[in-house]
Amino acid sequence: MTYRRTITCDGGGCLALFIGRPQWAADAAKFAAMRAGWRCGGLGSPDLCPSCRPDGTGRGPVLERGECPVCTGRQRELAEVTECMYCGHQEPHPADDEAEDQADDQAAGEAGTRCPAAHPEDPTPCSGPVVVTVLDAQNHGAKGCTRHGSRLLASLDGARVVGLPDAPAGTAVRVFKLADGIRPFPWLTGPRVREAELSRAEVRQQAAGTLAELADDAHRNVRGGAGD
Ligand SMILES: [Zn+2]
Ligand SMILES: [Zn+2]
Ligand SMILES: [Zn+2]
Repeated sequence: MTYRRTITCDGGGCLALFIGRPQWAADAAKFAAMRAGWRCGGLGSPDLCPSCRPDGTGRGPVLERGECPVCTGRQRELAEVTECMYCGHQEPHPADDEAEDQADDQAAGEAGTRCPAAHPEDPTPCSGPVVVTVLDAQNHGAKGCTRHGSRLLASLDGARVVGLPDAPAGTAVRVFKLADGIRPFPWLTGPRVREAELSRAEVRQQAAGTLAELADDAHRNVRGGAGD
């Protein structure tokens, strides 16, 4: 398995990059890139940015870098938005951003502020008070409610969970068990087939299935050999 957090476009002469977050698990960057419009092939087929993929809405290879969050292409200012000159990704102007942030803050204040473990793209509210700390492989921690703590734990490689001192006994274990059945980045929709997109329980099931098949085959071969 390749551990890539930055995806490069294989389109001829294209400078596009998709930059994943450093704390993302293996292949999560690729997964997020596909959600953003990249076409990431399997073995031997090229990774193409939204601008290069033949069925995309893009305008060809990225020749000048800018700050487009989807393809790192150069952007231009339009009346209402900043638009990527290559993939066409649009973002509201910073002024609108601030207004939106304020609206978001208000909404958050009304709905109750979410715990630090809640991913910005995860739309779900907290399940209750903050009860655990999720630590990543580098020991950076985020406190979370049961729901967001378990979702974060399921989305990170090598992460662990500890209960806060005032949490009910067994909370960390409960969150650990919850995370086992949760797919990484569960708020992302779409088909999930690769290991990095499945929950740990599903990966184990698949592995067990493969082992059972192998054992079956071995059994048949042995019996077949002995019978002849
Ligand atoms: Zn490209
Ligand atoms: Zn772009
Ligand atoms: Zn939460």
